[in-house]
Amino acid sequence: MVVGLGGMGAAVLEALARRGVRPLGLDRFRTGHLSGSSHGGSRVARQAYFEHPDYVPLLKWAFEGWDRLEAETGIRCLHRIGVLLAGGVDSMLLKASLASAREHGIPIESIDSSELRRRFPQFRLPDGMFGVFEPGAGFVRPEAGIDANLEFAVNRGAEIRRPVEVLGIDADDDGAVIRTDQGDIRAERVVVTAGAWTSRLLRELDSSVPLIPQRKEMVWFANRGQAACSSAGMPAWLVDDQGACGDGVYYGVPTWAGQTGHRGMKVGFHGPGVPVDPDLKHVVPQEIVDRFSRDMKRYLPEVLGEPIAAQSCLYTMSPDEHFVIDRLPGRAAVVVAAGFSGHGYKFAPVVGEIAADLAMEGRSSLPAGFLGLSRFEAEGES
Ligand SMILES: Cc1cc2nc3c(=O)[nH]c(=O)nc-3n(C[C@H](O)[C@H](O)[C@H](O)COP(=O)(O)OP(=O)(O)OC[C@H]3O[C@@H](n4cnc5c(N)ncnc54)[C@H](O)[C@@H]3O)c2cc1C
Repeated sequence: MVVGLGGMGAAVLEALARRGVRPLGLDRFRTGHLSGSSHGGSRVARQAYFEHPDYVPLLKWAFEGWDRLEAETGIRCLHRIGVLLAGGVDSMLLKASLASAREHGIPIESIDSSELRRRFPQFRLPDGMFGVFEPGAGFVRPEAGIDANLEFAVNRGAEIRRPVEVLGIDADDDGAVIRTDQGDIRAERVVVTAGAWTSRLLRELDSSVPLIPQRKEMVWFANRGQAACSSAGMPAWLVDDQGACGDGVYYGVPTWAGQTGHRGMKVGFHGPGVPVDPDLKHVVPQEIVDRFSRDMKRYLPEVLGEPIAAQSCLYTMSPDEHFVIDRLPGRAAVVVAAGFSGHGYKFAPVVGEIAADLAMEGRSSLPAGFLGLSRFEAEGES
């Protein structure tokens, strides 16, 4: 059984169905809802990973997983339009990306500031910035990925029930009872992929899965320089201006042929946030749209037009911003995959595989031990 069929739950359902299990998946909303973490049309997908080099083998597996899913369903999910990271010589983001690429043999190009200006003339970046370009990277489409995973799973015998709200879970090592607004369901194993609601759902199990929801905004801008801001002439990008625009980094995804949802270039800001109640509806404040507009005039002054749409979305933060994928201690029937801390979606195929391994075999041969819950116990003891 899978609780939560957003970005990750859909991938877990696929991975279970692929091994011949006929899993049941529940969600309180239908596909395409705007309440969770997997809407907004695109997610940047890189392999030269500054967050930690240990993610790279998982990313290689995930990219292959996207290719396989696309071939099997005919639904395009991963667009390899390249990703450009730009930053100053002291940028830890760029340094860590270069180190990950070196350690794991990811093809990248290091670009000096004059080459950066020549190749990407739509940007006005501060003097001295250099770039790291990863040609095999790009973006994934979360709504398409969810559709593809669920379609594949249902075709292999999975059952989906929506809307069903899970109210609580009772479990031990041998099985679980999932209490829902439509009655109890018994399961041998349950994978909880409830995104920003995961901690709340697992609280009753005395579990200390320490996850905190935060809200983030995405703003779409009209495209004044059609070619300059479309995937034909612009990769997905991220600028580390080292604090010049606040504590965090701007990133963007250009327009692309066949773009669904809001049109225009999508811009987001990845940085610290404050805890929120994930159930509270949210309208993006005008001051945030104004701030994005002001800062984009700095980086893309000639090619970006006015803001045309804005949406908010939830991050689910773990204390160290690394994912949590593990069985619950003392409740081996429960696997949790959550805490993706604003950088998880590109991993969906490999998250599905690891969670399915843990649910079916109790262990995974994929190198994901660093994402286990025991790291928080160790922190508590020190
Ligand atoms: C603005 C933004 C930008 C991002 N950018 C990137 C990026 O560039 N690259 C990247 O890789 N990742 C990115 N991410 C992160 C990525 O989108 C998330 O890690 C991923 O989508 C998380 O998926 P999820 O399945 O955990 O959560 P969700 O997709 O929210 O799924 C959880 C599901 O559980 C269901 N649920 C919850 N509680 C219950 C219940 N009690 N009963 C029944 N169902 C329940 C919900 O309805 C929901 O459908 C970004 C996220 C945001 C918000």
